[in-house]
This record gives sequence, C-alpha cells and structure tokens, in this order.
Amino acid sequence: MHLVIIGGGVIGITTAWACRLRGWDVTVIEANETLARGACYANGAQISVSHPHPWSSPQAPRIAMESLFNPDAPFHWKPKWDCAEARWLALFLRECLPERHRRNTRAIAALGTFSLSVLRRWRSELDLQYDAVTRGILHLFFDEKAWQHGQAHAAELAELGICAVPCTPDEAIAIEPALAPHRDRLYGALHAPDDESGDAHAFTLALAERCAAAGVTIRTHTAAIGWQFRADGRAVLLVRENATAAASETVLEADEYILCAGVGSRALARPLLGDVPIHPVKGYSLTLPIRDPERIPTVSLTDESHRIVASRLGNRWRIAGTAELAGMDDRPDPARLVSLYRWGRQWGGDAVDWSQAEEWAGLRPMTPSGVPLIGKTRYRNVWINSGHGSLGWTLACGSAEAIAGLIAGDPPSVAFPFLT
Ligand SMILES: Cc1cc2nc3c(=O)[nH]c(=O)nc-3n(C[C@H](O)[C@H](O)[C@H](O)COP(=O)(O)OP(=O)(O)OC[C@H]3O[C@@H](n4cnc5c(N)ncnc54)[C@H](O)[C@@H]3O)c2cc1C
Repeated sequence: MHLVIIGGGVIGITTAWACRLRGWDVTVIEANETLARGACYANGAQISVSHPHPWSSPQAPRIAMESLFNPDAPFHWKPKWDCAEARWLALFLRECLPERHRRNTRAIAALGTFSLSVLRRWRSELDLQYDAVTRGILHLFFDEKAWQHGQAHAAELAELGICAVPCTPDEAIAIEPALAPHRDRLYGALHAPDDESGDAHAFTLALAERCAAAGVTIRTHTAAIGWQFRADGRAVLLVRENATAAASETVLEADEYILCAGVGSRALARPLLGDVPIHPVKGYSLTLPIRDPERIPTVSLTDESHRIVASRLGNRWRIAGTAELAGMDDRPDPARLVSLYRWGRQWGGDAVDWSQAEEWAGLRPMTPSGVPLIGKTRYRNVWINSGHGSLGWTLACGSAEAIAGLIAGDPPSVAFPFLT
C-alpha cells in the first residue's frame, strides 16, 4: 500500500515512521525547502502529559477579557472582523463549558499518556539524539491562591492516572538546585516526574533520517494544493513542485493520504470534512546559548502564573509562551517578546548570552476544544492527524501510532474520540 503524508512537521514525520513500521510504502511531501520549520521548530520543548487541560476552560473567557486591557498578558487578541476567527472563538467559548472541558481534558490525558509510552519505545529502539531530559517538569507557584489551585490540579491529575507530586520550595530545589537563588520567590511546586523535555525540531530531523534510511520518500518543496474527487468515493491529491521555476500542478496518486499539515490543514480539509476549525494561535520563544550551566535549570519549568515554560536543550536554554490571534502571520512581534525577555532575565540573569538570543514565533494548529482531529474524513482514502494546538510535541508519537492503527483496522485502546 502506498501512503502520502502531507506535511513534514513533527506530526507528519512521526506518522511516516508509524506507517513505515507497518511495512507500507510511504511518501512525505513538505511545502518548505526543509522539514520541521513550522510550529515544532523552536517550541517550548516540553513533553507535558501533566498539562492535559485545554486552553478552552471555564476560566478562559475571563482571561481573554482581562487580556484586552493588558498589553503584557500571556494571551493577546484584538476583536476584528474575520469570519474564520469569529467562528473559531464562538466554538472555543462553547468548549469552555465545565462538562466539555472535563471531557476534553480526559481525552488529551489519555492520548498524552499513550504518546509518552510510544515516544519511550521509539527512543530506546532508535537511539535518537535530541537533547532529551527525562527528569520531569516542575510547575512553579508564587502565592497561596495559585498554590491551592496547583494542589487541586495535582488531585485532578491523580484521577487521570498522571503523577504530579506537591513540593515545598526546598523540595523543589532538591530536584532542581539551580532554583536555589529564587528560593524566596517560590511558594510551592508540583513535580511531574514522568514528563520530559527535548528539542522537537532535532527529534523530527533525526526521525526523518531514520524514515529515509528505512525507505520513506521525502519530497520537500512540494505543496499540496487541493484534491480531485473520483466517482468511487476516493480522492487524489494535487501538488505543486515549487522548486522548479515553471511550477506546475500535478496529480500525486496514492492508495491513502494523511493530512498532517498543521495550520495548513484547514484549507486542505475543507472539501473533506467541512470547515474544520483548526486556527493559527501564535506563540513565541527565545533560545539562548548558556554561559554558566550550573545556574540554568536542567529540569523543564512551567511558570503557572505567567504561562511561560523554560527547557534546557543541551547548552541552550529555550523560553516559550504567549498566545496571540494574528492570522497566518508568523513573524515575531517585538512587543510580544518583552515578557519572555523579562522572565528570562529574572531567572537566567547573565548565565545566558543575551546578545545571541534567537527570537522565534510559530503558529499552533489549534482546535477550539484543544483535542486534535485524528481519523477518517468523508473520503474513504483520506485521513487526518492534525490540530494538536499547544501539545503537538507531547501528543505526536501517540497520534502517529493511533492513525496508523486506524488505517490498519487495528486502533489502539485509548479512550480518545477518534474520527471513525
Ligand atoms: C511557542 C510554542 C510553544 C510550544 N510549546 C510546546 C511544548 O512545549 N510542548 C508541546 O507538546 N507542544 C508545544 N507547542 C505545540 C507544537 O509545537 C505544535 O502542536 C506542533 O508543532 C504541531 O505539529 P504539526 O506537525 O501539526 O505542525 P507543524 O510543526 O507546523 O508542521 C506542519 C508542516 O506542514 C507543512 N505544510 C503546511 N501546509 C502544507 C501543504 N499544503 N503542503 C505540504 N506541506 C504543508 C508545513 O510547512 C510544516 O512543515 C508549541 C508551539 C508553539 C508555537
């Protein structure tokens, strides 16, 4: 069987590997000249199974309203006349209802737990190098109110089978000694020992190399531009090879197609599933060379009050956060980077080289519920694995294994609403 995977990001390449493992003939097409330059390029690097709560929560409408009056807020949007965005926001609001939020959290937790097990298996089988750190994530809290919320969060996670251990500031420092100079700032922490961190971009490139060595064809500079539909209920893909000056549309025949195009999925999915609400939510990161390794945390951190994460990637430190509705514009806006610089200076000081900060912005492919779309479309040979939002790196390996299982008629037993 020949499969074409559309998109060479972390979701597309993990999907290619899962399909190749089943013995199928796989081609990946990627619009850019290189793989993994989309949302996975410089993301927060966390494998955060301990954060299964989608952004659409009962608190989200209040946070969104507050953000209108605070230019420094972690979430940034300006109401504007854009039908796609208005529709997405309306659906997002619906997903904030408590029962929907609980249901979505359960689905993400189940997929996240499964995904971590697949990631560990592949890592041990393939010896992939991507600056992985397997010492968990520390969620930091700075006042009594936030800490009470954190402890309630730990109890909820326990019900979902996810471990997060409440720690005093001294216990947190015992886990991550680089936090010692910040002792007075800390009120409490949750340590999720099973979580991990690592460079999603390096992982994707390393796995792509394994894919190529195992016979997967990878065609960069090849964009999917639409479909032709056949009377037998099947579809074929139209592509454009823009590496050549005289770019022309060609048909790329395959038995099955899997759409893994991140924020590019919405347009391609429209004729297959209707208007799937995968919307770009822009995020930012700074990556800094480390001067003094002893003073920069190795354990990945989540600052719960500023919604900023920080991960150690070998001799680099990655600080990431913010969410902005800015359409398909993925250029960094300096105003949105201010809070990351401020946070980094507070926690990293001169232990990193600020003169070489790499500024980056990327577009999270976000569904209103935070739950990715994995499974069948209305055309029987086209599948989708997309819309992983803020957790695509965490959910990638499990989503890949799941879609390959669904195509093979052998889905994994994960309590997740696959599209069937
Ligand atoms: C600032 C930030 C921080 C984040 N932090 C984390 C984190 O700590 N942990 C976590 O789990 N997740 C995190 N995420 C989310 C995660 O990075 C994304 O969910 C994930 O990258 C989505 O992967 P993807 O492969 O679907 O999309 P992408 O990585 O964007 O890849 C999609 C690919 O498809 C290609 N493509 C698009 N259209 C076409 C087309 N028509 N034809 C061919 N190719 C096409 C694109 O060029 C791209 O290469 C973060 C995201 C951001 C922006």
